[in-house]
Amino acid sequence: MELETPTTFRDRPININDRGQRNWIYARQPKGEWYTRRTIVAWLAISFLALAPFIKINGNPLMLFDVANRKFSIFGQLIWAQDTYLLALIMVVTVVFIVLFTVIYGRLWCGWACPQTIFLEMVYRRIEYLFEGNYRGGKGKQEMNSQNFFRKLAKHAVFILVSILITNLFLNWIIGPERLWAIISEPVSEHLFGFMVMLGISLFYYWIYAFFREQVCTMICPYGRLQGVLLDSKSVAVIYDYKRGEPRGPKSKGDCIDCHQCISVCPTGIDIKNGSQLECINCTACIDECNMVMKKINKPGNLIRFDSVHGIDTGKRSVLNTRTYAYSAVLVILIVTLGITISNRKPIETTMLRVSGSIYQQVDSVTYSNLYLLKIINKTQTDKELQIKLLTPKSGKIQLATGQSILKSQGILQSVIIVNLDKKQLTGKSTTIEVGIFEGETLLEHYTTNFLGPVSK
Ligand code: SF4
Ligand code: SF4
Repeated sequence: MELETPTTFRDRPININDRGQRNWIYARQPKGEWYTRRTIVAWLAISFLALAPFIKINGNPLMLFDVANRKFSIFGQLIWAQDTYLLALIMVVTVVFIVLFTVIYGRLWCGWACPQTIFLEMVYRRIEYLFEGNYRGGKGKQEMNSQNFFRKLAKHAVFILVSILITNLFLNWIIGPERLWAIISEPVSEHLFGFMVMLGISLFYYWIYAFFREQVCTMICPYGRLQGVLLDSKSVAVIYDYKRGEPRGPKSKGDCIDCHQCISVCPTGIDIKNGSQLECINCTACIDECNMVMKKINKPGNLIRFDSVHGIDTGKRSVLNTRTYAYSAVLVILIVTLGITISNRKPIETTMLRVSGSIYQQVDSVTYSNLYLLKIINKTQTDKELQIKLLTPKSGKIQLATGQSILKSQGILQSVIIVNLDKKQLTGKSTTIEVGIFEGETLLEHYTTNFLGPVSK
């Protein structure tokens, strides 16, 4: 028996045909107020991407993700790999943020802030429109004659240059402008590895934006795949008001005249009238296009709009409701908590571990000593002259084996440290001691550890 398949059901992404081959999408350039807003947001985001590594706060870059040296700077706050609890907190907050943000605002990130969409729609596609025209009103592929061949060639040459530029913008975030400038300005032979990485990433970006394109969103991006489980009927999304639009057609009762204009501008090639779909990146191009159609036929705008399935079903606009406010409040609390935690971090990080294999030494008839390996990381941009004092018990002695107490900015001080205690101060086989790290009179950090002594005093 043959199964009946609804005409709206698809068992493959729209950009793949029934033989598994690519359907190339020729999206027309949208026009309208949403596109203007998106252009402004995109250029603000690109400006932030370009400028953030150059802006310094307390001598630290606004943004730096130096994975190789395990050093990160987020809004000027230096975070080291040793800040494990902070990194864990950032990861937890990021995951919770993504989940909550998506539950409320759907794929707003995809259409408005994702670098893939910003660069593809606002940079590469605009270059394409410049060289190849606006797809001649969305008529699709151009025939290949010599004029079009040279247009394509010029377009790809500009694509390659832009890909190199974008690679450098991203590398600024990873290795910092100073190291990047060294790779660019010094002979290639001195930075062969760095140069090869730069070239490899540039070619990768070129391939993504020139050829692979929207398939990143429809086939690869894990965030896109998560939408099915994160969205519910109250999530905000770009939605077609089927109650108002149906039955569609030029002479039908519904407001939709089935003109297909919303499909012609869609960068992922879908028909939003078929409901919420995996490929929809919430770019709003179809809203603008449909609003223009509605204006021409003297019907109210926003047949396609930001709303929720619940809002369309009940007829109550529900973009901003109690749930949206409550979840947004949780997001703000999370970010503020993270911000306070990062800004209240200690300027130094101390670890003091017993020298491997050592227990205790008897110095004379009344004094015992223990050896420790002291490691202090300076997380600030200033050199520090440190004093290390025994806080408990106060009358013991503490001495740095190296004698060095200057800690360079962002540097690490490592030294063996000797602690001497009178046997009267021992409370048993293991005595708790507390060490203070001072800069002048200011206690920067205190560290508690154990002092080993003989079983009987
Ligand atoms: S642009 Fe508007 S009217 Fe035209 S098909 Fe799309 S939803 Fe219907
Ligand atoms: S359906 Fe509309 S919002 Fe979704 S990707 Fe296509 S044009 Fe953008």
